[in-house]
Amino acid sequence: MALKDVIGQEGAIKILKSAVLNRRAASAYLFQGPSGIGKRLAAVNFAKALNCQKSPDDGDACDSCPVCRRIEEGIYPDVREVRPEKGAIKIDEIRDLEEKLSLSAYEGKFKVAIVDEAHLMNKQASNAFLKCLEEPPSDSVIILVSSNPDRLLDTIKSRCQAVVFKPLSARDMSLLLKDRIKEPDMLQTLISLSMGRPGLVLEGKAGGSGILKKRQDFLKSLQDMLISKPGKSPSWADKEEIEEFMDGLEIFLRDMLVMRTTGRENLAMLGPDIPEGLKTFFKTAKEEVIIDCYQGVATLRESLVYNPNKSILWNYTAGMLKKLLPPSKKA
Ligand SMILES: [Zn+2]
Repeated sequence: MALKDVIGQEGAIKILKSAVLNRRAASAYLFQGPSGIGKRLAAVNFAKALNCQKSPDDGDACDSCPVCRRIEEGIYPDVREVRPEKGAIKIDEIRDLEEKLSLSAYEGKFKVAIVDEAHLMNKQASNAFLKCLEEPPSDSVIILVSSNPDRLLDTIKSRCQAVVFKPLSARDMSLLLKDRIKEPDMLQTLISLSMGRPGLVLEGKAGGSGILKKRQDFLKSLQDMLISKPGKSPSWADKEEIEEFMDGLEIFLRDMLVMRTTGRENLAMLGPDIPEGLKTFFKTAKEEVIIDCYQGVATLRESLVYNPNKSILWNYTAGMLKKLLPPSKKA
């Protein structure tokens, strides 16, 4: 791959190619935007373009010289990557990175450090990192990658050139996925569910099983909540599952509203394979009730910071969603 293969991020890629072409790379960048849209991919390919032996005249990487190949394989000594372990980037990793950056390059034109999900640096790591940014080692380029830049120290952000990445359009998503997902209904479902974030589809094994499994888990919980086991104990194992359920519920309600107003069926959550019980229940819901529920989900989501009791939350959510049902089924 090269920078040109990072689909749907023309603005960001133009900035990076121009930095390579004009030999004016900043000492630190912050690649920011939602997860799964190509930020890390762009970082690796930017490192290639900066160090490529052939240096094509468009500022991109050739992707075939020995340097490009070794960077692709993650075995090039002048390009290093730090990733969070167990949800955090610790000070030892940052110190190690700092030490490597302070030495001269082994063989490359630039030493490149990529810090993935940089907002997960803990406090000590952030402070150590700040020192590194204040006195950037020569011929080095540091790339912070973050889906949550608000959690980075302002003093770190202000020393980085921000490069903004955006969710992909449906057209770009289709372009990217059509060779891997042959079945048109499945392709459409995945495009809707991933909301412009191809990484969410591609990270799952066998092309999108991750996101499809989440959809199945959501529909199963919803069915348990409203049909199979109303008033029983929650199907959620932990807070993460509650958050995933709320994510699913938002998409579900949005799809219902679109279906009610446009008559379009086969939307992401309301695809042809949705359990029959749920399908008949929701066909008659009124638009204003759907909107009320949508706002209710936002409030419930905010309440999660207080770690509410799971059973109370489960029954409260069930009560709220039952307003969607036709009068005869509310009992
Ligand atoms: Zn090359």
